[in-house]
Amino acid sequence: MNTIPPRPVDAVIASLREFLGERVSTTQAVREQHSRGEDQTPPTLPDAVAFVETTEEVSRALALCHQHGVPLVAFGAGTSLEGHVNPVRRGISLDLSRMTNILEVNAEDMDCLIEPGVTRQQLNDHLRDQGMFFPVDPGSHCTIGGMCATRASGTNAVRYGTIRENVLGLEVVLADGRVIHTGGRARKAANGYDLTRLLIGSEGTLGVITRVRLRLHGIPEAMSSAVCQFPDLAAAVNTVIVTMQSGIPVARIELLDADQVAACVKYSKLENLQPSPTLFLEFHGTPAAVKEQAEAVEAIAADHGGEGFAWATDAESRNKLWKARHDAYWAAINLIPGYRGITTDVCVPISHLAEAIVGSKQEALASGLTTCIVGHVGDGNFHQVILFDPNDAAGLEKAWELDRKIVARGLALGGTCSGEHGIGLGKREFLEVEHGAEALAVMRGIKQQFDPKGILNPGKMFRN
Ligand SMILES: Cc1cc2nc3c(=O)[nH]c(=O)nc-3n(C[C@H](O)[C@H](O)[C@H](O)COP(=O)(O)OP(=O)(O)OC[C@H]3O[C@@H](n4cnc5c(N)ncnc54)[C@H](O)[C@@H]3O)c2cc1C
Repeated sequence: MNTIPPRPVDAVIASLREFLGERVSTTQAVREQHSRGEDQTPPTLPDAVAFVETTEEVSRALALCHQHGVPLVAFGAGTSLEGHVNPVRRGISLDLSRMTNILEVNAEDMDCLIEPGVTRQQLNDHLRDQGMFFPVDPGSHCTIGGMCATRASGTNAVRYGTIRENVLGLEVVLADGRVIHTGGRARKAANGYDLTRLLIGSEGTLGVITRVRLRLHGIPEAMSSAVCQFPDLAAAVNTVIVTMQSGIPVARIELLDADQVAACVKYSKLENLQPSPTLFLEFHGTPAAVKEQAEAVEAIAADHGGEGFAWATDAESRNKLWKARHDAYWAAINLIPGYRGITTDVCVPISHLAEAIVGSKQEALASGLTTCIVGHVGDGNFHQVILFDPNDAAGLEKAWELDRKIVARGLALGGTCSGEHGIGLGKREFLEVEHGAEALAVMRGIKQQFDPKGILNPGKMFRN
């Protein structure tokens, strides 16, 4: 009688069960939850999902996958937008969302040590009473491990930097199970290759992050938010450019085009806003500094035809505004019932921002597709959500064509295909265009050094 030889992945699943027990799942529902992120890729079911709780468990899981040559995809909250967590070669989805301990908070040095499954919302709830906060704020409920892996940012990056500037060090499990520590608690270090920066943005292809040491910031004495509406997109973007070039230290400066404002008014029940291009702003500092910054931006906005510059210092109005901004993606995809969205992530030098945004919107109008623009424009970064009917294959192809045109325009203006979402599956075709063949070969060499058997999130970042 012929017997089918056991698959390597079955041996891994059996060994994982020895130390994780019921925390290894092969049920259809759990595998489906780990079959893709918030992206448009066709889902792939992993062979199993392993829920880990300690560095030691991560290390043992990786050593097993390495030994048997089985793919492993780290999974945080699955909110990534470029197919990052889709286990295209199947294998094990390693879910780190239960690693939620906040291990240290050092108020004197303003740093903390956390596990990768902690979300920024959990961390900020924990820190609030101590007068500190962690500023990097993607508009999703994602994990800080996932943010490190995608080099994420958010609305505060213009003032406080992206995750890259706010991580001091990492604990990382390598492909074969070895554990390394990078960086440290010192604010400066000129001490060899910067492995922390290399691992940030590596999208789970070089190692699994099990601890993160973060910089923290003091909660500002005063904060005020403001809203200003403009007659056209160019006027709003030019206000941003002049504000940034004037060196005004805005804490947040976010652009919403007319379609996005209409979507947010409907979804988040915002009042007193017309469907026209709008800036949401926030200022941090002493009461006098906040007033001075707001008045300076108000004057720049007025020069560009901005109207109804409205301030709010009370927490309730500010929170409502920023909740609406964080929900902008959901507002956009709810604009047309049944539609879904492809999200671009172009980032250009600030002097080319008007050309990039106005040109991309014109391109969208010419295509006949509905798009909503929302952007961290102080950094030159904007997202154009392209709406499409999932039941219309030709419409979807048209949406991808528009996506490629928007990226090509951004690259031609000296920008990048991704300011913060990362490469995953969706942006692999642009990597060589941006960096050139030689730089890409160096990146492949690094991958080979960290992960010689190619088990870590295979198929991502590079087309193999
Ligand atoms: C509505 C919405 C708004 C968003 N807004 C923003 C935004 O403003 N700014 C922004 O930057 N992004 C934004 N995103 C994208 C997304 O939230 C970020 O990319 C986020 O950092 C992903 O974190 P996650 O925990 O969901 O990671 P996942 O999606 O689970 O994983 C993302 C990648 O990181 C890897 N990974 C996860 N955890 C680890 C780990 N511990 N060690 C090693 N690798 C790991 C995975 O393998 C994968 O490659 C948004 C997404 C949505 C849906």
